[in-house]
Amino acid sequence: MSTIYDVIIIGAGPAGLAAGLYAGRARLKTLIIEKGSDGGQIAITDEIENYPGGMLGGESGPDLIKRFTAQAAHFGAERLTDNVQSVELTGEIKKVHCSKGDYEAKTVILATGATPRPIGCENEEEFIGKGVSYCATCDARFFEDFEVYVVGGGDSAVEEAMYLSKFARKVTIIHRRNELRAAKSIQEKAFANEKVHFMWDTVVQSLHGDGVLSSMVVKNVKTGELTTIEADPDDGMFGLFGFIGFLPFTSLYEGQVEMQNGYIVTDPDMHTNLPGVFAAGDLRVKSLRQVITAAADGAIAAMQAEHYLNQ
Ligand code: NAP
Repeated sequence: MSTIYDVIIIGAGPAGLAAGLYAGRARLKTLIIEKGSDGGQIAITDEIENYPGGMLGGESGPDLIKRFTAQAAHFGAERLTDNVQSVELTGEIKKVHCSKGDYEAKTVILATGATPRPIGCENEEEFIGKGVSYCATCDARFFEDFEVYVVGGGDSAVEEAMYLSKFARKVTIIHRRNELRAAKSIQEKAFANEKVHFMWDTVVQSLHGDGVLSSMVVKNVKTGELTTIEADPDDGMFGLFGFIGFLPFTSLYEGQVEMQNGYIVTDPDMHTNLPGVFAAGDLRVKSLRQVITAAADGAIAAMQAEHYLNQ
């Protein structure tokens, strides 16, 4: 543990890599630690068309993230592929214990992201990107004039259902209870939207289709009745969007960093409650989880790390 880095960034999604770019460019001795491949959720996104400056007509998540990775490397951020086992964030020198070694830094940027909570039905994984999605902003356009179903009853589900109704010809919210959790003002707008329909007391049991999602079995939780929903034959498929919350990857930091419902609490400049510890991207409490907001968080966190070091 002879090297003490200026900043260790945990996670190489858009937030971590943008932080790496800015930290490297500020001549901070920077180490980015990632256990798998770069990109986080973006690594499994087929098409991104809303990242400003991206390719017109869209490009794949892996293609976009390759440039994030190259840019961070270009500005001198060191890379380590390893699994972080535990962290000590409270002292002046922060310690990051990985499977293959231990690392020290004066500041740490937490950028391990979050993952959408799966719907929890049979065959769900098989149809991700083939009908199943967890991001209306990313995928609504692909369901122009199709039928789509939305699982959930919170603010996200109802707001995203209304967003989807601008593209799809019919949107049905499938909710496990007979009343929504969403704020009343949001509910009122959804009830007034002619394209938005509701399937109450219902959960999705299994998904089916030959390559794309074309039928699903839903269950009424009160009566136990099973119903098969088939795609309109002219469409051949339908969309199924899950909005039942996210699972942030924050268990490593529990007991040290302040959290709210598992998300890290920061101020607008990405400071956590601990001096020298910053958080960036989907793992923090925020209103919009997108590549652009993750990248912006990363840039801010790196610049704040530099200010902290200068002090
Ligand atoms: P949420 O409020 O936790 O709602 C999750 C919804 O998914 C609930 O309706 C829940 O049902 C349902 N659910 C959970 N697990 C399920 C399962 N296994 N199967 C089926 N349904 C399941 O999550 P969210 O809507 O993503 O919102 C997260 C936070 O962000 C909330 O605090 C919300 O207020 C906030 N938010 C705010 C806005 C806004 O203010 N405009 C927009 C989006 C999000 P039950 O109701 O039965 O528990």
